[in-house]
Amino acid sequence: MSAKVFVITGPSGVGKGTLIKQLLERVPNLALSVSATTRDPRAGEVDGTDYHFLTEERFQERIAAKDFLEFATYSGNHYGTLNSELDRCLESGRSVVLEIEVQGATQVRAARPDSVQIFIAPPDESVLRERLVGRGTDSAEAIDRRLKTAEQELAQQDDFNHRIVNDDLSRAADELESIVREATNS
Ligand code: ADP
Ligand code: 5GP
Repeated sequence: MSAKVFVITGPSGVGKGTLIKQLLERVPNLALSVSATTRDPRAGEVDGTDYHFLTEERFQERIAAKDFLEFATYSGNHYGTLNSELDRCLESGRSVVLEIEVQGATQVRAARPDSVQIFIAPPDESVLRERLVGRGTDSAEAIDRRLKTAEQELAQQDDFNHRIVNDDLSRAADELESIVREATNS
């Protein structure tokens, strides 16, 4: 198996986290990069596991230190992938999965043209609201903001190597697994 960088992107609520969880259970030697963010932890989220939760000041310091492979502002907060996370995983011989929004994915495409870019799309836009409401982690206001951003993100889906429609979860997970296995010869 050759180590690769997989970028998994798509609008909030489309099912990226759910599909990645299944992927990590199905395919060995994959590591999920833990991003940095300035957003507040949700109930149950653990610092260093779900995210590296940083203050605005600390995030800016790490931008200045060029610690990020990519970073973006999304829904009023900053999010970024630390180069150190990527190196830690790749040095251990594992492929790395980045779960990031579309602006960050575009930056990774430029920085690492060998990355495999996968856009997760909804069967139709209305399921995004249903899924975000169903997930129960975001306020009504936060959901509205995320859905507004989703329109811009969906407009960019053709820029990605691969597009998976997450209608039926197990079929979408099969498709994701095939893309990853093919790219890593595993
Ligand atoms: P994202 O990480 O893209 O924001 P999540 O993985 O958190 O999205 O999924 C949002 C919600 O949608 C979750 O409650 C999840 O259980 C649900 N979900 C994910 N995939 C599907 C699917 N194929 N069909 C129905 N519900 C789904
Ligand atoms: P959430 O607040 O729901 O955890 O994440 C909001 C959005 O930020 C999601 O689309 C998620 O994929 C994205 N995101 C998470 N980590 C990163 C990152 O390191 N970089 C970028 N650009 N986006 C990220």
